[in-house]
Amino acid sequence: MDLRYKDITYCKGVGAKRAELLKKELNIQSALDLLYVFPYKYIDRSQFYLIRDIQNEETYVQIVGTITDIQTIGTGKGQRLVAHFRDKMADEMELLWFQGIKYVQLERNVPYIVFGKPSCFNHTFSIIHPEMERLTSPEQLRAKKGLEPHYNTSEKMKGHALNDKAMRTIIQGLMPDLREGVPDTLPQALREKYHLFDLTSALINIHFPQNQQQMQKARERLKFEELFYIQLQILKQAKLHSLKSEGYRMPVVGKTFHDFYQNKLPFALTNAQKRVIREIHEDMKSGHQMNRLLQGDVGSGKTLVALLCSLLAKDNGYQTCIMAPTEILANQHLETISSMLDGTGVRVELLTGSTTTKQRNTLLTDLIQGDIDILIGTHALLEDRVQFSNLGLVIVDEQHRFGVAQRAKLWAKNVHSPHVLVMTATPIPRTLAMTVYGDLSVSVIDELPPGRKPVYTLHYSNLRREQIDNFIQQQIQRGRQIYIVFPLIEQQKDKNGNPKPVDKPLADLENGFERICRRFPEYNISMVHGKMKPKEKDMHMQLFAEGKTQILVATTVIEVGVNVPNASVMIIENAERFGLSQLHQLRGRVGRGAEQSYCILLTGLELSKDTRKRMNIMVETNDGFRIAEADMQLRGPGDLEGTQQSGLPFELKIASLVSDGQILELARKAAQEILEDDPELSKPENRMYVNQLNKLKQQTINWSEIS
Ligand code: ADP
Ligand code: MG
Repeated sequence: MDLRYKDITYCKGVGAKRAELLKKELNIQSALDLLYVFPYKYIDRSQFYLIRDIQNEETYVQIVGTITDIQTIGTGKGQRLVAHFRDKMADEMELLWFQGIKYVQLERNVPYIVFGKPSCFNHTFSIIHPEMERLTSPEQLRAKKGLEPHYNTSEKMKGHALNDKAMRTIIQGLMPDLREGVPDTLPQALREKYHLFDLTSALINIHFPQNQQQMQKARERLKFEELFYIQLQILKQAKLHSLKSEGYRMPVVGKTFHDFYQNKLPFALTNAQKRVIREIHEDMKSGHQMNRLLQGDVGSGKTLVALLCSLLAKDNGYQTCIMAPTEILANQHLETISSMLDGTGVRVELLTGSTTTKQRNTLLTDLIQGDIDILIGTHALLEDRVQFSNLGLVIVDEQHRFGVAQRAKLWAKNVHSPHVLVMTATPIPRTLAMTVYGDLSVSVIDELPPGRKPVYTLHYSNLRREQIDNFIQQQIQRGRQIYIVFPLIEQQKDKNGNPKPVDKPLADLENGFERICRRFPEYNISMVHGKMKPKEKDMHMQLFAEGKTQILVATTVIEVGVNVPNASVMIIENAERFGLSQLHQLRGRVGRGAEQSYCILLTGLELSKDTRKRMNIMVETNDGFRIAEADMQLRGPGDLEGTQQSGLPFELKIASLVSDGQILELARKAAQEILEDDPELSKPENRMYVNQLNKLKQQTINWSEIS
């Protein structure tokens, strides 16, 4: 029986009611669909462990040994039963019961098979509430059934007795049919090249593996397949887009560029800056439209790269627009860029939400007449009435979520799509760069300008405030400036999960501001936050940038881009409330001048394990890539893929962007090789890929229509 066409209703143990539920809850129609519900864990009864071989908390273990001692410790709620258990190597571990103590009946000095999940406490393993089996015959020692699969089911499913055990039984019932074989989704040649299981073996062994190795091989094959088809889809699209979409040719490196380079460049470019400019220029002269991501840690000098690329565009007769996420940043870009371009005859203008109507009208006229070379702005640039004479290059700065839709709006601003360069300081873990941004080519500035002193990061409990205040004082006396950042007070959820309005999201900031004003009456202090009028915000930013205020109290509005080289101390209050990449961004505001800079993370005393890890990573490293990787590891696939998976063409069931980087690299390589040879997948031997891509697309569409 071909499992693809076997309706789930008629599978053993299912029936109409359960079939309905499986359809609703898991989108399962056929028997084969059900085989794609993968176990979330296995219980290993294939082997016996020695106590000394226990290595992690994840794998359930069974151990043979005897109980040497039994004690009841404590009274009332804290009462527990502790058995000292010894194996044949004379290693010992504790078995613990907190509940149902009076029902536990154990004998000393007779052999038991103990089964359970180890937990680690103070570097030693124990098992809480193990299953105990008296060992009476050697038969029991013969390894059992292999690994036992366990399945997650929803509350609704459990309500209809479709629980873990029922799922196991139903899936087991499909094994005889499965052993007859299912059509593969990867060609044999590819499987052989990458040493992958065929689909039938993979499906058998993902559910009922004989041992860990078989299970791993099965998981590898299925992960590879998922990631491979995602890569094939992304790369195929990117390839077709770049083949089809004609791009403006900008081969000239002309007078404007040379003049600037020779006479105006304030410092020598780093090698990394030179390299990425070359990479970008390669694209700009290729005749294909560029879609490139420029990654460079905070302070690596992306603005200058943007400027030089704009000059290349100008030398070829094209205009450039540079888009920033906030007005503060757009303003800052305008200042930096126009001061560098002073006397070159290149015209730079600014367009934001606060540009007056009158200014805007003149500006738009000049723009369409081609009198403006570089237009800097915020989202206001996307508006339809912003028309260029000949837009050739779009640079998008620090937009974390600048999706394809927005890019497409920019593409439409000239006859052909202008080249697009997306710049970010938030390092993107490699796996994300290959998937969510898989259609973009990537350039990396992996070198900071010379002479930067790494920021020195310290983690303190907020009980040490006095010491920190003294430090602030000392630094200001030396002529430095200080940032103090507060998180917004988070919205609490009501019992329906809706966000409750927060009375005073800025309360911490405002209280902090008052305290600081009282503590430092001799200094000028600025405050900025997102709820302020842009004018007022800009005024305070300006005061701080010009050194007229010594302390800037702020929310994360200063997170990206802000550049005040004289500020050398970043104090982050309630640092536990920030994510790693945010902390790293904030830290990037200091360390921009010649002086030693400091980042001080203030938290409470009691910290969760995760928070402690976050603080430690910040203290240990300044490397944005390491921080991005750690961030992804800590936040885990849930958070990450929850928000980011919208960027993937197909859903991931088994592969993880957090932990399957290596398989992803292989899968990408495989996809690249195939497309290199056959970009449109039109060769007969590649038929299987096309079919599978179509099938996946269809599944994705159907599913989104249902839910
Ligand atoms: P980011 O990559 O974070 O946008 P910026 O472009 O704001 O970084 O640059 C940070 C600082 O480094 C600026 O003050 C800039 O003038 C300076 N800078 C950029 N490139 C160089 C260089 N090659 N040598 C020295 N300083 C540089
Ligand atoms: Mg920048």
